[in-house]
Amino acid sequence: MNGKRILIIEDEVSISDIVKFNLVKEGYEVETAYDGEEGLKKALGADFDLILLDIMLPHVDGFQVCRKVRETSNVPIIMVTAKEEEVDKVLGLELGADDYLTKPFGMRELIARVKANIRRTEFLSDSGDGGTKVSNYGNITIDMTKYEIRKNDKPLELTLREFELLKYLAEQENQVFSREQLLEEVWGYEYYGDIRTVDVTIRRLREKVEDDPSEPKYIRTKRGIGYYFRRP
Ligand code: CA
Repeated sequence: MNGKRILIIEDEVSISDIVKFNLVKEGYEVETAYDGEEGLKKALGADFDLILLDIMLPHVDGFQVCRKVRETSNVPIIMVTAKEEEVDKVLGLELGADDYLTKPFGMRELIARVKANIRRTEFLSDSGDGGTKVSNYGNITIDMTKYEIRKNDKPLELTLREFELLKYLAEQENQVFSREQLLEEVWGYEYYGDIRTVDVTIRRLREKVEDDPSEPKYIRTKRGIGYYFRRP
């Protein structure tokens, strides 16, 4: 046992069983739910280190589960899609999913993604050690002791990716990054997403950070190149 708890929300029992088997073999404690309603109840009722969330589910679909969970929790969520649901990826990201897996997926890929997403949370919560714990960028404060970003001293409700993206940009303020660079640096090489992922996450961040998201003062666009952070 590695002390990490994972919730699998998946209605196809054969997939759920094999995923559970492989995760348990890796030392995870696994809870399962076979429809969206049950999944949501479990997700809200206990602390998990990660949620694997199928999109097409009976009663309440994965998007609704994601939206509801995000109202109160920043737990890493990996959404599981079938190939033909490609178009839904952007919606899932808008709702705050952290990563995607497309069916059919191999168990090695699954384990790698699960580890990467959990490691990222741990890394973020420990990475105050030895370095600067609180940094100020104008009225934006990044506090690694609390794993929190505040604007005018009010904590922003950010998902893991949003937190990482804002932290990355702010720490290298005024430096412009392309979408490809951000995808590689913030999401990591193991992420197979496309660059729209970056745009969607930037849009969500602006809604939380900017006074007027249509006139961003912090997270700026460099036309034709990418994005950068600047103190207003
Ligand atoms: Ca399904």
